[in-house]
Amino acid sequence: MKSKPARKAYALADLQNWQDSDPPIRLGVLGDPVEHSLSPELQNAALQQSKIKMQYARFHILARELPEGFRLIRELKFVGVNLTLPHKVRALDLLDEVDRDAKRSGAVNTVAIRDGKLIGFDTDGPGFSRAIREEFAVDLRDLRILVLGAGGAARAIAFQCARENCERLVIANRTFANAETLTKNLSEFFVGPRVLGPVARLQAIPWEDAALRFQIANTDLVVNATPLGLSANDGPPIPARLLQPHLMVYDAVYARGQSRTPFVTAAMEAGARAASGLSMLVHQGARAFEIWFGSAAPIEAMRKACSGGL
Ligand code: NAP
Repeated sequence: MKSKPARKAYALADLQNWQDSDPPIRLGVLGDPVEHSLSPELQNAALQQSKIKMQYARFHILARELPEGFRLIRELKFVGVNLTLPHKVRALDLLDEVDRDAKRSGAVNTVAIRDGKLIGFDTDGPGFSRAIREEFAVDLRDLRILVLGAGGAARAIAFQCARENCERLVIANRTFANAETLTKNLSEFFVGPRVLGPVARLQAIPWEDAALRFQIANTDLVVNATPLGLSANDGPPIPARLLQPHLMVYDAVYARGQSRTPFVTAAMEAGARAASGLSMLVHQGARAFEIWFGSAAPIEAMRKACSGGL
């Protein structure tokens, strides 16, 4: 197979008529869209640095194509794959085994293929935790956190916050019922009365200005776990006028080039501290590498490739 220009993605039809390259492609990211993903830059740098003769590629796989995609990567003896939207939740029903934390959060972003079995893991949650410590020098357990979104990334992030016993956790989502389901699944973590005052430790709220404004006054960290910011036409996920200087803002979306995401820009203009999702990308990728190869990931090479690849 001819080498493809960076950011090009293979399709299901390519997997069906697979012609291998040198070094062979045995890892990849499956998603729709997937062209924005920096995982190939990140993981190929790690493979090179670790002298593993293998490549990692992008695969544009639609939601309905995922079962066939999984069948093919098993047949082609891939080492593993990452999953990005919209596959993280759906994948659970298609895998042979799912690690306990991923099963509990209901989202898988990393698949390892061992002895022909597809095994699912979540590395987004641990990656998010390490990113927050790196960006803001704080631990999740000390924070009141508002998560925007209730999809795969939001679930992984929310469960990590819960596992680390954060002070309080609020989920706001476009489809309120999905925020309610997520908080219901998290309720067993929030039994102790850690926060003084009238606010609940765990709450689902509608995606409305008044509800968001009230919560932001009782929040330290706001996390965007929606795709808002991925498209060039997107503004910040919530109106800039709601942002306040006391906040830390973490945007799971990451920007290309030297540019900032709309959410990071809006937060900084409001006087808040803010960071985009590159640090989470690096840490979730490092954890995935460790799962695939059972050895420590060359994290500095990954970080460098990621910023250089922008
Ligand atoms: P997903 O499972 O498809 O979930 C998307 C979520 O965003 C849902 O809660 C959805 O709400 C909400 N949403 C979608 N479009 C919206 C809109 N126009 N307005 C308001 N809410 C909207 O996707 P995902 O896998 O969680 O990924 C979400 C984002 O996180 C992606 O941009 C991805 O790149 C990023 N991410 C980054 C990293 C990293 O390492 N930095 C890791 C994981 C994910 P409904 O429930 O109403 O549909």
